[in-house]
Formats: sequence, structure tokens, C-alpha cells
Amino acid sequence: MTIWRRALDLLWPRNCEICGRPVDREGRYVCADCLNRIPFVRPEDGMYEIDDAASAVRFECETREMVNGFKFRDRIWLRDDFVDWMEAAARARFDIAAIDAVVAVPTTLSHRINRGYNQSALLAAALARRLDRVFLKRALARIGHPKRQSSLAEAERVENVKGTFAVREPSLVRGRTILLVDDIMTTGSTLSECAKMLKDAGAWRVWSVTLARSVRT
Ligand SMILES: [Zn+2]
Repeated sequence: MTIWRRALDLLWPRNCEICGRPVDREGRYVCADCLNRIPFVRPEDGMYEIDDAASAVRFECETREMVNGFKFRDRIWLRDDFVDWMEAAARARFDIAAIDAVVAVPTTLSHRINRGYNQSALLAAALARRLDRVFLKRALARIGHPKRQSSLAEAERVENVKGTFAVREPSLVRGRTILLVDDIMTTGSTLSECAKMLKDAGAWRVWSVTLARSVRT
């Protein structure tokens, strides 16, 4: 998929995902003008078991379309734009040198079967390279099959994710500062449950960075 997209890029200019005009930033799909208008998120307080949290953009309008396209419609060539934004959010918020390892929130099995990829792991692997941190690819596992979080109210979300994650190798996280990566943060209950599992396994601190922050109004 990505290879074909890259081949096409050589033949035709890439068009901006938002305004449709050609983009001259190598490997990127958002033009400089639109980048200036993207609703980036300002740092806010962490929550639950997460010690500190950062998100790159608000999950609304064009960014919602782009993130959903990446998550559900195989538009994985958007990754480099997204990782740019996440890297900026992470660097603004955290002492990167203090991070020992990067861990992705595991996706549901049905998502992986339907899509063939875990969008959070794609983001986490690329972000870890940018930040020059170790990516622990298989640190967390999904052991349960919760209902889709998006269909539930906040209190139900907390219950729904309980017991659905497990740490595969506690020795890899013990005493460490972990940067937990996911695509979208809504109430934070999924991130919090992952953070709890990591801490139960001995992790010292868990920080999170997400591509998008869904703000309920
Ligand atoms: Zn544009």
C-alpha cells in the first residue's frame, strides 16, 4: 500500500489532505498553510494512572477525518505527518532523555484482522525512532475483548477495559519510565488501564502521548 503510494508520489505531486493543493514537503500530506491552522492541543494535566499526558491535535474537523482515515481506511501514508505532530507534543511536554522505552496500546484482535495493522504500533515505532528511544513492540498484550469504547459512557469505559491488558515481560518495564502511545485519547480510561498494568509490573512512571485528543462538549 505505502510502496505504491510512494511510487505514485514520484509521478504526480502529492495533494494536501486538507485543502487539496500540491504539497512540496517531502513525504508529507499536509501543506504548510494548513499545518498552521491545525488545532494542536496545549498541554493539560494527566489523569488516572497516567503520570503525565500529551496529545498533538484536537480530534475535530479535518484532523478527525485524517485520523479516522489512518485508523479505519488504510491511509497509513499519513504516518509521517502524524509523527511530526506527536514528536512536537512529546518534546514540548516531556524530558525525552528520561524516557526509557516506548510502548503502544495494543489494538483489538478484530481490528487487527480487519485492518491488518495496529495503528498505535505504527505511530509508536516511528515516534520511538524520532526520539531515539527503545520501542518495546510486544510489551503489552490484549487478553480480553471489550466492547468498543466509543459506544460507552465514561463510567462504563473504565469498567469495560478492566482486565483486558497484560504485560508480557515485566523485566522489560521494571523501574522504567514508559512513554505509552495511542491514536486517540477520549476519557483516558484505556491509557489508564494500560498504565496500571505497567505499574503493577513494576514500571516507575508512565507518560502518554496520543495523536488526537477527543474533547467532549
Ligand atoms: Zn493544505
